[in-house]
Amino acid sequence: MANFSRMSRRNFLYTAGASAASSILLKGCVGNPPSATNNTVANVTSSVAAPVAANDAPETTTVKLGYIPIVESAAMIIAQEKGFFAKYGMTGVELSKQANWASARDNVTIGSEGGGIDGGQWQMPMPHLISEGIITNGRKVPMYVLAQLNTQGNGIAISGIHTGQGLGLDIKGAADYIKSFPANQGRKFKAAHTFPNVNQDFWIRYWFAAGGIDPDQDIDLLAVPPAETVQGMRNGTMDAFSTGDPWPYRIVADDIGFMSALTHELWAFHPEEYLALRADWVDANPKATKAMLKGLMEAQQWCDKPENRAELVQICSGRNYFNVPAAVLTPPYEGDYAMGDGKTAFKDIKVGPLYWTDPKGSVSYPYKSHDLWFLTESLRWGFHKNDITDFDAVQRIVDAVNREDLWREAAQEAGFSDIPTSTSRGVETFFDGVKFDPKDPQAYLDSLTIKRV
Ligand code: CA
Repeated sequence: MANFSRMSRRNFLYTAGASAASSILLKGCVGNPPSATNNTVANVTSSVAAPVAANDAPETTTVKLGYIPIVESAAMIIAQEKGFFAKYGMTGVELSKQANWASARDNVTIGSEGGGIDGGQWQMPMPHLISEGIITNGRKVPMYVLAQLNTQGNGIAISGIHTGQGLGLDIKGAADYIKSFPANQGRKFKAAHTFPNVNQDFWIRYWFAAGGIDPDQDIDLLAVPPAETVQGMRNGTMDAFSTGDPWPYRIVADDIGFMSALTHELWAFHPEEYLALRADWVDANPKATKAMLKGLMEAQQWCDKPENRAELVQICSGRNYFNVPAAVLTPPYEGDYAMGDGKTAFKDIKVGPLYWTDPKGSVSYPYKSHDLWFLTESLRWGFHKNDITDFDAVQRIVDAVNREDLWREAAQEAGFSDIPTSTSRGVETFFDGVKFDPKDPQAYLDSLTIKRV
């Protein structure tokens, strides 16, 4: 097993609060299900002209970034529309709406020179899996994780037919109800996520397993497009949905069902989605990479300021981007989550998506300890077991893909505060009391009851 002591042994001393704004984050920009069309938006705003020293001039001013129209991409959109990319010299950024996660994967494999993308927004650990050729038919396309885009903003929705059955955060009391589906309904309890072996799959697996439900044996858990899933929840053929803003709002508001849990409840301030680019692009354009990162970071700081939220909603809801009514985006950005099924609603911006800092540390900085958790969870469920065999493989992949050093350099050059002092965020605690210590991921696996290893 790998020696994780290379990670700092000290729980990093990190003063959480960058500023008063750090406690007030934006809630998610809501997104509708990705449309089937690619929609490229060129950089039209460069209102902020900041001097870029000649020796800092980026090697290129253009880069093509894919995004999915959900709250996770908000800071990329703000960096474009508010001129933060341009401020640091990246005047030719293109944001390209991706139809779904599989399209994003295929487009980054092609690269922008082939009509695809250089990188963009990812669930985890997609950059690691693409780097290893695991989800690209064996074709290895090395990628670098450069920043985290956001935390939280996701949840687990349940069909309204299960109202009153105890499907809340802790479902131990509902385990018999769920397991009795084959006997009583002639089918297993059916749950969906949007792409296998990444965030939404991990969140709902964790939730089921903590409640004593084996997601590989006791239920059917499938990748299904969001619109199809919601239709299934309406007509009684789909029972649960691991989803993200704005679906939690819509599920309850449209009386499709209720929320069993927000991901904030499962794991407060958990890692969510990331910016990652092809390694060949970054290696050829190190200054442009850092310029892009500076613009993203400034946008993330902007997104966390409460006074900017109304403008954020206005920009992200627009037809070019999420194409949803502003009224659908506003509640998440106010931390306003109705849960349904008799649960108390949340009204706290800190339970939704955050972009720059949160009470546990940096949001933007890509902690290696979080890459480690995603790959440890992959080991737990036996994903990619022929390719990611053990913690030695995990550490090799994390070290190759995570470029927190570039984030750190960019933040220092830009003079930003809130730069973490460790690549580990320290021990993480889940809602059921389970702990993940990045110094001993094997102990985490050993502590779990339902697992494939
Ligand atoms: Ca997500």
